Amino acid sequence: MPDVRKVVILGAGPAGLTAALYLARASLNPLVITGDLPGGQLMLTSMVENFPGFPEGILGPELMDLFKRQAERFGAQLVYDRVSKVDFRRRPFKIYTEGSVFEAEAVIIATGASARRLGLEGEKRLMGRGVSFCATCDGAFFKGKEVAVVGGGDSALEEALFLTKFANKVTVIHRRDRLRASPILQQRAFSNLKISFKWNSVVVDILGEKSVEGLVVEDVKNGLKEVLNTQGLFVAIGHEPNTEIFRGQIELDEKGYIMLKKGSMTNVEGVFAAGDVHDHRYRQAITAAGFGCMAALDVERYLGLR
Ligand code: NAP
Repeated sequence: MPDVRKVVILGAGPAGLTAALYLARASLNPLVITGDLPGGQLMLTSMVENFPGFPEGILGPELMDLFKRQAERFGAQLVYDRVSKVDFRRRPFKIYTEGSVFEAEAVIIATGASARRLGLEGEKRLMGRGVSFCATCDGAFFKGKEVAVVGGGDSALEEALFLTKFANKVTVIHRRDRLRASPILQQRAFSNLKISFKWNSVVVDILGEKSVEGLVVEDVKNGLKEVLNTQGLFVAIGHEPNTEIFRGQIELDEKGYIMLKKGSMTNVEGVFAAGDVHDHRYRQAITAAGFGCMAALDVERYLGLR
């Protein structure tokens, strides 16, 4: 039989590792099951300039290595595996990976969200070299350049508006002829002289070997293709929370995000959630870390230690 842990944390991004740090310091010996992307979404970005405490900025992977080392220093234990199944119906809770079963009195779900991808070959190859999923993270690298944003929702327009602080020209590429974004953001984008729109269009290829040099854009109405000169591609076509394995046990909203009930607790007493897995509004490393801290404190209280 596996040992019953006081607490197991699922996910090792800013939320999961901050929770691990607090719980390790509370002598709860937390186990963190990292999932497929230990370190989370910051592992996919380059320089992080908006995380307080690093006035010169810090590379995303370096920052996450510091998070991990700090949690480990106090006794957090990381398991580099992915969770395939959970059983929150019985206590202790059971967490299954490919080869192991873990049991815990309390669980923090910090599995995050993943940016939806276009599914193009160049998208992965040039990620961090012109292809980005976060203007707040990477916008400043495009000072004086031309960039494109794909998407027609609030995120796409927020990204486009933010990018006008740096880029000379921002082209929003949208697959339809109407935006989904809120009227106020539409108004702002339409009246911004740096922003132009390419309607009924999709990106079918990303050009460039070492960095983005252009995009092949196809008009979905007539099939005509053209090359758009751009050095940056921001993909803002939504996020998907990593919650599939919890479906049926943890209450999710209509978009699949975890719904919190009391503080950071979910509908299951003893199961908590932190970070992008429940928060689709702020989605910052610093807010995720804050949520991780809150969940850890709630776990301590739940276990009667506070
Ligand atoms: P979203 O509202 O789901 O919009 C996604 C956009 O991407 C849509 O315009 C969609 O096109 C397009 N899209 C989806 N898949 C695509 C694909 N494969 N290829 C090309 N285009 C694709 O996502 P979001 O903008 O990230 O917003 C998510 C939620 O957060 C929304 O509820 C939003 O209101 C909220 N949010 C709010 C704020 C704010 O209030 N300031 C800021 C950001 C986000 P179609 O329109 O054709 O479906």
